[in-house]
Amino acid sequence: MCIFCKIIAGEIPNYTVYEDKNILAFLDIAPHTKGHTVVVPKKHYERLSDMDLEVWQGIAVGLKKVQEKLDMVLKPVGFNIGVNDGKVAGQVVPHVHWHVFPRYEKDGGGSIHSIINNPGEESLEDLYKKF
Ligand code: AMP
Ligand code: ZN
Repeated sequence: MCIFCKIIAGEIPNYTVYEDKNILAFLDIAPHTKGHTVVVPKKHYERLSDMDLEVWQGIAVGLKKVQEKLDMVLKPVGFNIGVNDGKVAGQVVPHVHWHVFPRYEKDGGGSIHSIINNPGEESLEDLYKKF
């Protein structure tokens, strides 16, 4: 069983922020910001591509609820919400999860653009032709 499945099963304790039938949201053990929250589907999926549309719908609703809860309790002034999908993208725990970062004035953080800067050589026009 993966570490997040153990948390969902109650074998490892967690600081729950929000829970419903589809997801569990809990405080990250190594927070990058005040209220850094991890949102996990209760069923084990390793990657985003393993989730079907119905699961996505449950996640969307759950994320909305988590954001509302963090808003109410911590009153941040912004959020970054994202997924490390796959090892190359920084995924360590092999159970798909959303990182929710509440943001505050002058918190010293960057934007999602600071994750990577490697656009490749191909022109946008050539790239576009592939779609
Ligand atoms: P990732 O690098 O996207 O796989 O992130 C995994 C996240 O899970 C990291 O931010 C960890 O700090 C967090 N994490 C790992 N174990 C626990 C735990 N037992 N309770 C809360 N958060 C955890
Ligand atoms: Zn799992």
